[in-house]
Order: sequence, then structure tokens, then C-alpha cells
Amino acid sequence: MSSPVDAKLRVAIIGSGPAGSYAAGHLLRHTATELHVDLYERLPTPWGLVRAGVAPDHPKIKSVTNLYERTAEHPRLRLFANVEFGRHVTLADLRRHYHAIVYAVGTPVDRAMGIPGEDLPGSYAATDFVGWYNGHPDFRNHQFDLSGERAVVIGAGNVALDVARMLVLTRAELAVTDIADHALEVLSNSGVREVVVVARRGPAQAAFTNPELRELGELSDADVTVDPDELRLGDGVADPNADPTALRNVEILREYSTRPLAGHTRRVALRFLLSPLALGGSGRVESVTLVRNALGLTADGSLRARATDEQLQIPAQAVFRAIGYRGTPLADVPFDAERELIANENGRVRRGEYVVGWAKRGPSGVIGTNKKDANETVGALLEDLAAGELLDPDPISDEALEQFVRERQPQLVDYGDWLAIDRRERALGEPAGRPRVKLTTVAELLDAIGWGGDD
Ligand code: NAP
Repeated sequence: MSSPVDAKLRVAIIGSGPAGSYAAGHLLRHTATELHVDLYERLPTPWGLVRAGVAPDHPKIKSVTNLYERTAEHPRLRLFANVEFGRHVTLADLRRHYHAIVYAVGTPVDRAMGIPGEDLPGSYAATDFVGWYNGHPDFRNHQFDLSGERAVVIGAGNVALDVARMLVLTRAELAVTDIADHALEVLSNSGVREVVVVARRGPAQAAFTNPELRELGELSDADVTVDPDELRLGDGVADPNADPTALRNVEILREYSTRPLAGHTRRVALRFLLSPLALGGSGRVESVTLVRNALGLTADGSLRARATDEQLQIPAQAVFRAIGYRGTPLADVPFDAERELIANENGRVRRGEYVVGWAKRGPSGVIGTNKKDANETVGALLEDLAAGELLDPDPISDEALEQFVRERQPQLVDYGDWLAIDRRERALGEPAGRPRVKLTTVAELLDAIGWGGDD
């Protein structure tokens, strides 16, 4: 017997990371109208960057998934994972079945430095390294040669700190985390003894947050060093944008600059006012050429790095660029090529289409920032709902809609299936006292549901 066709108000969210999960939570809490949410996810696993971006040694940050799980258990939410927008379902499909579509796809691609030698073997994007050590299936087969003694990380944000920390943590520190097994082996046997983190501006302009910078000084077998002369280079230039976080960063860096070395095996050196000019080496990275910068005030009141004629070269066998992420266009969805984001105005893309998170505002803020951000977009969606300005889809029952998606992707992973994957990973971790051992290919993930796996 066919299911009764109904006229439920339906919202599709594309992407189950923090932004998509918060948007779902806000939509489900709306009381004036019952909204039904289908959360689409390309991978067989939910939670986006919480699973694939947050560093393995930050389990407290990952515990935010408890909240997302409560949202996912809501009777008006369905998870449609292992379903790719643009491949299994198109924008036209979703416009036919939903009153609104919310893009929560993040900004998945690394920014390039645009310098000679950037493509040499040994030059890596932090995005790839982060995906690899976190067991993201797309990065499973990447190779990182960490046999050399020195690695350089370009950039002064939290991703740069994550990369630096992961390179100097001991096997004992890594082995209790949910780091991918393949990365645990490579990092435990790494030859890296020094990681140089290179900021193009001064200490007061670094994008680190205080706890992350402080944590760098508390590692079990790594010293942190800051050259006091380099700290002083930024002095005398008042930054009109310096906020309490920046000022506290400077205090922490001052303390690092006076700290005696504890004689640890590894070291992280934080360097300032230097920009990469070129990576050198025959056949692979052997050095980084840097130029000394001075700070100059721009017309918009911000401080910019301006190159001087002083140059220096650092021998290095691995270079990671951690200079930010950018968005990529989605099929048939308006894209702002200049900002490298989905084109939007406060979360509105065009009638019935919305955007949240990094795809909306760019790769900034911490996980919690996405809550407020999603609230703004959901507010716009609800305003449009009240004004009768959403899409006008064909009525369809819950069952028929799910059937439609399953016809496109028979290996649709629903929330119950994800719980089976989750149980398998946790069980694998238990004997070693780890939170989980991640399954890192789509085939392995599907195998945990009992599907025999098929990439
Ligand atoms: P970010 O915070 O924007 O930092 C990017 C860094 O790259 C900045 O220092 C920037 O310097 C530098 N940079 C940009 N272009 C450059 C170039 N061409 N040459 C040299 N340096 C360049 O970005 P992110 O580190 O990728 O982090 C993204 C977001 O995720 C941030 O909001 C971050 O806080 C968050 N996150 C949080 C955590 C955590 O809470 N534990 C962990 C990871 C990431 P300028 O300032 O001079 O542009």
C-alpha cells in the first residue's frame, strides 16, 4: 500500500558538521511550525570537522558531538549519509522535494602560497595532513615523508599550532587518542626534531587563541622557543585591532622567550615577521627562503606585512602551509569567486536556499561560533517561511522521499547505521584504552554496518 502523501514542511541541510548540526537544532526547536529536517552528508560518518579537523589530542573539543547526537535523535530529523550533493541528489531534486535547502559544506580546500618550489615533494597542505591524521577517507592514501630533522609550518593560526603539536607529540601522547592508525605509525617514527612556525606579521597579529598557544608550552617532550629580538620587532607599532586575546598571546610569547630550555628531544620555534619567498631543493624540499617583514599601517587601519630586503634561508625537509582554507563552487549554486564562498547575504543565497558556517562567512572562529551563525541563517529562513517566500515543492511522504534517495544511493547510511559504525570503532579502541580506532576507508566503514563495503 502506498503511503499517504502529506504536506510536511521540509528542510534539507547539506553537510553534517558543526554548522549543519547547529542549523538542524535551531530548526527543530522552532515551535510555531513543525519543520522536518533531512541532514545530507557526503561521507558515511557525520560531524564534519569535529571528526576530521579537530586534533586527536583535543577530546574535550570533540565532546560537542554529544549535543549533535541529541539533535540527530530528534524524531523529525533523518540522517542521509554517504549521499553526495551533485552526484546522488541534485539541486533540482531537492528543490522538487523541500521547502528550503541549507548549505553547510564548509571551505574544504587549502590556500596556496603562490611561491616557487611550492609543488616540490615535501611541500604539503595542512588541510591534507589534518585530514590524513584524522582518518578522513579522502586523505587515507596521502604520504608524508617525516624522515628529515626540521619541518617548517607557514601561518600563525590554530591550524598551524595543531600541525606543529602533532609533529612533536610523543608516541605515548598520540597512542591514547583517536588518531588514525596509519598516522600513529608515521608520526611515532618521525625524524622531526624541530618545527619552525612562521608568522608573516608580529606577535600581536597572530591568529592563535590563548589556550592553544599556552598548550604548546606544556608538551611532555618538546621545548617551545621565541627569539626575544624578534618579539621586539613588533614593538612600537600600535595595532588598532589588538584585542584581549592578542594582548594575552603577546604575554604568553614573552614568557616563552625567557624560558630556559628543558632539554626535551623536540622543539617548536615560533618565528615572526617572516614571509616565505621560495622553497628550494633538487627533486624535493631542502630549504625555505624567507624575507624579513616590517609592519605598515594600511588605509583600512589594519597592519600589513611589508617585505624588507633582508632574506634568510632555513634548511627544512618538510613544509606545511597552514594559511587558511577556501570554498569551492557547488553545482548550480551561486558562488562568490572573490570571497571564495557561496554567494549570500546574511545567510540568504536566493529564494529557498540558505548557507551557514564557513561556506557562508569564511573559515573563521571556533566551533561554537557556528551556533550563532546558524541562528542568524535559520532566523532568515523562518522569516521567509512566515512571509510565504520559501519553495513550493511537490508534497511527498517521509517514506517516499527516503525511497527516492535510496534509489539514488542504495548504500545510504542512516543514523542507526552510523551508530553501528560508532560502536565498532569504540570497540576497536577499547583494548588499547583509546576512545576509538577510526575506520578510514569507505569500504571499512560500510563493512561495520555489515554491507561488505563498496567504494
Ligand atoms: P587563520 O586563523 O585564519 O590563520 C591563518 C594564518 O595564515 C594567519 O596567521 C595569516 O596571517 C596566515 N597567512 C595567510 N596568508 C598567508 C600567506 N600568503 N603567507 C603567510 N601567512 C599567511 O586560519 P586557520 O589556522 O586555518 O584556522 C581556521 C579557523 O579554525 C580559525 O578560526 C581557527 O581559530 C579555527 N581553529 C580552531 C582550533 C581550536 O580551537 N583548537 C583549531 C584549528 C582551527 P595574517 O593574519 O597576516 O593574514
